[in-house]
Amino acid sequence: MSRARSVVALQRRNAACRRCLEAGYPIVPPPVFAGHVGQRAYLYGLAPGRVEAETGLPWQGRAGATLRRWLRLEEKDFFERFYCASVTRCFPGPSPGGRGDRRATPAEEELCASWREDELRLLRPALVVTVGLPAAAQLLGVRRLADAVGKSYLLDDAVAVPLPHPSGASGWLNDETNRKRLGKALTHVRRELERIAHPPHTERP
Ligand code: SF4
Repeated sequence: MSRARSVVALQRRNAACRRCLEAGYPIVPPPVFAGHVGQRAYLYGLAPGRVEAETGLPWQGRAGATLRRWLRLEEKDFFERFYCASVTRCFPGPSPGGRGDRRATPAEEELCASWREDELRLLRPALVVTVGLPAAAQLLGVRRLADAVGKSYLLDDAVAVPLPHPSGASGWLNDETNRKRLGKALTHVRRELERIAHPPHTERP
């Protein structure tokens, strides 16, 4: 398939994507993402959950509320600033064991990767925030959150900042050192958001 020439065209194609379903995976379409042309901050998570699949908007559950509290952003401001995408964009369905959501397979992640590549090519973000280890692993080659949270990376022209997942399911944030790492990471994110809102060559009112 030819590559999309605009964000709007890309979103239209992504919304119609059923690649995983056609390949036999038990995902629940439609794909969930949110954003618009001109956004310079790109938020990259793992996958939508059930609530997101029902509402059609990313980060609608408790984890989204925690993420916004971390970032000190109201919901409207959050969606105004961040283009929200994920490693896979369709709800993967419940896990076979009955606890939580199924983790999409590497094959599904591979099927979905072109959407991210085209978003980054078209948006050319100044800030990329990954949420959770799988997203950081995909984009930045990170293997352990403890090695990466609190640091910033260069991803093409963007500053990339990994965050842990805000669900708290892993218990990673029970460790005080990890909470300090998170604090440092959030300082990086806020500084970059400020830089995007007020680039050096523009005068503040
Ligand atoms: S997860 Fe990604 S590749 Fe798979 S059907 Fe949804 S949008 Fe398409």
